[in-house]
Amino acid sequence: MRIGVFGGTFDPIHLGHLIAAELAAELAALDQVLFVPAGQPWHRPRPPAASARDRLAMVQLAIAGNPRFGVSTVDVEREGPTYTDETLLALQGRYPTARLVLLLGQDLLAHLGSWHRPERVGELAEIAVLARPGSPPIDFASLEPFLPRARERIRCLATPLIAISATLIRERVRAGRSIRYLTPEAVISYIAAQGLYRA
Ligand code: ATP
Repeated sequence: MRIGVFGGTFDPIHLGHLIAAELAAELAALDQVLFVPAGQPWHRPRPPAASARDRLAMVQLAIAGNPRFGVSTVDVEREGPTYTDETLLALQGRYPTARLVLLLGQDLLAHLGSWHRPERVGELAEIAVLARPGSPPIDFASLEPFLPRARERIRCLATPLIAISATLIRERVRAGRSIRYLTPEAVISYIAAQGLYRA
């Protein structure tokens, strides 16, 4: 059993996440992709705009009906900042026989060295990278100190380049603009019903 672990703030989840996860499942031969919304993302200057409860609800709405997709609440249930090595450890405890594959947008990979115990991340999971427009090229040499043989071990997945971000969605909602087709209808309805991202 190979489980893709797709962590994120998901503030909100959007089609960029969903398309990348679906194609990554094929490309990296994943039986399941687990979306793991962060509680308090440690690397962000500001807390998420929406509560953990709302972000989790939107992930659940977005993935409903896809048998390969699931959601894990390990991070939203945990107090304190969300560190990826701890997330992976918790998931390993939960799925002891599974091979974990960490799915990372290419924009995030450049920061891996500044993560909490990055060498543990590489021990606990395979790393697969999702292509993302505007990301810097991967500097394998800079990853070597904590991820030996980085070039062989990091798998770059040729997922389509989709220039959608949660920031774009939040900005458009705030400006009263359409977010149709940027995220599933059910998420759009939830954002409207809860009045998220308006202020
Ligand atoms: P924000 O705009 O608020 O920074 P985001 O759109 O980057 O948010 P996150 O929830 O922070 O969304 O991203 C979770 C993961 O999904 C990260 O690994 C990120 O790189 C990846 N990701 C987000 N959007 C895309 C996209 N359009 N294509 C590929 N990967 C993406």
